[in-house]
Amino acid sequence: MTSKLGNLFILAAPSGAGKSSLIKALLSREPDAQSNPKQVSVSHTTRAPRPGEVDGEHYHFVSREAFEALIEQQAFFEYAEVFGNYYGTSRITIEQTLHRGIDVFLDIDWQGARQVKALMPDTCGIFILPPSKPCLQERLEKRGQDEQSVIAKRMAEAVSEMSHYSEFDYVLVNDEFSATLQDLNSIVEAQRLRTAKQQARHQLLIDSLLSAE
Ligand code: GDP
Ligand code: ADP
Ligand code: 5GP
Repeated sequence: MTSKLGNLFILAAPSGAGKSSLIKALLSREPDAQSNPKQVSVSHTTRAPRPGEVDGEHYHFVSREAFEALIEQQAFFEYAEVFGNYYGTSRITIEQTLHRGIDVFLDIDWQGARQVKALMPDTCGIFILPPSKPCLQERLEKRGQDEQSVIAKRMAEAVSEMSHYSEFDYVLVNDEFSATLQDLNSIVEAQRLRTAKQQARHQLLIDSLLSAE
């Protein structure tokens, strides 16, 4: 399967490296909102909402039973168990959004990334690394939304998540936020100019340029 007109991007990273902040900042950049529409995919999860998290906006929060029923119905494009909870991406939403020519950003773990790459090989995978381990710990603590035991669990999982960095097309070290955001934007811009996408977008022009008359 190829991703029609819209481009599919995956951002993966150890928890706290900054992927949610980067996606949010990228999506709020005004200049190209009209000409290059983009959306973040809202996952389903069985984890409890954090303070301030809104159902349908940050995640679709569902029970384990409801999630398992959705698995049965093959409603997920990909899903995985992360930190003891299920997380998954809705198949229909992704397909419809890409079909409408909208770029979609997935904030998912390496297990989900592997499934997506197998289904749509032209997906652009981006891995975000923190500048150091102490810095990662500090960011998780400063975010102030998880309990100490949850932070410890996420730090313990960080090395295992990071060990998959080389399965991705691009690697960004998120040290200075604005510099990383600029690099992310460059990757997104370049992805849109790939030959297969330009062929689809400019089919009439290419046909007329190559015609004998
Ligand atoms: P945060 O990214 O550290 O703020 O933590 P989250 O609770 O939002 O995400 C927990 C883990 O689940 C991360 O490793 C995510 O990459 C992963 N995750 C989130 N959404 C999805 C999804 O739709 N599919 C898969 N496979 N993993 C996801
Ligand atoms: P993730 O989605 O990867 O778990 P977040 O985007 O929630 O990570 O970022 C974790 C914390 O680190 C947040 O409090 C965020 O404001 C902060 N943060 C993200 N990127 C940077 C950066 N480059 N420098 C300093 N703090 C950052
Ligand atoms: P958090 O619980 O901090 O919101 O997310 C923890 C991890 O789950 C993050 O690394 C995030 O990328 C991952 N995650 C969130 N949604 C999904 C999803 O739908 N699928 C997969 N595979 N991972 C997800």
